[in-house]
Amino acid sequence: MAGHPNYLWLNGELTKWEDATVHVTELGWSSVAAVFEGIRGYWNGESEELFVFRLTEHMDRFMRSMRLQRMHSRWTRDELIAACLQVARDNDCHEDTYIRPLAYFGSASRGAFLATNSDCDIMITSNPAPSHLMTGVKQTASVSSYRRIGEDVMPPRVKNISNYRNSQLGSTEARLNGYDTAIFLNTAGHVTEGPGACLFMVRDNVVITPDLTSGILESITRDAFLTLCREQLGLEAIERVVDRTELYIADEVFFAGTMAEVSPVTMIDHYDIGTGELGTVTGQLEILFNDVVRGISPLYSAWRTPVGVRALATASGDD
Ligand code: PMP
Repeated sequence: MAGHPNYLWLNGELTKWEDATVHVTELGWSSVAAVFEGIRGYWNGESEELFVFRLTEHMDRFMRSMRLQRMHSRWTRDELIAACLQVARDNDCHEDTYIRPLAYFGSASRGAFLATNSDCDIMITSNPAPSHLMTGVKQTASVSSYRRIGEDVMPPRVKNISNYRNSQLGSTEARLNGYDTAIFLNTAGHVTEGPGACLFMVRDNVVITPDLTSGILESITRDAFLTLCREQLGLEAIERVVDRTELYIADEVFFAGTMAEVSPVTMIDHYDIGTGELGTVTGQLEILFNDVVRGISPLYSAWRTPVGVRALATASGDD
């Protein structure tokens, strides 16, 4: 692969990367309404297979994002699932991969502020995205001075590109202030999530995460972690309103998300979290998650869709 994948999927056609162009006037307004998905495929070197994590759930959320945006998809959920797999297969993805479907109103001339069930354009790209699971990554965070967007302004429960301006403001502020990332409160002052990930804390062996009406994305990793904590780690895992100062006195805090995977937070606003090192529950969850997403463990096979990548020998051969 010379700097970019060979193909992407554009409006029903597998298209050569170089040929997938849009007119420059579509930049800008077409992205105001755009919605997207972020999906990971995990490589298993043993079985030489790429497993896409919870693909159906991601595409269900993609359809919900389009619905809320009053976008009409010319393709069914299952056709889009097949398209994601085709992109990964035809790009010979033999490594951890990020798959990103994007739906947008392709013609800005249709009116920037009107979205009324018109057909949207959809493209699907794949890119290498090395996992940081089991690499010892940890983060520092600060509570942002920016509040999280809310249901009364822009619904955070779906993945609209515009939502990420709020993420960007908080994230940049945190970085400029010397932290790795931000934690947003909602307008009621309760904890929501990070710029691109959900938040968990552990207090007295109970795993706690803000509930879905706190103003957070309906995260697929969050749902998986609640299941893994309850079913595999035997822990109580609850969804409830979380206060800011609970974070400072928590035993463990970690982010959860497709890109964030399991990301331990070891300091918030200059409070060490727990011992200031990787916590026990976070560490256990990281190992478990790695085993499940890569298919090292047979557990939760319904969460893994095998791409059916060709063997490298064939891919680089003369077929
Ligand atoms: N919150 C936000 C704002 C996000 O962008 C993400 C990443 N998609 C998440 C939470 C985590 O969601 P998921 O587990 O579905 O990736």
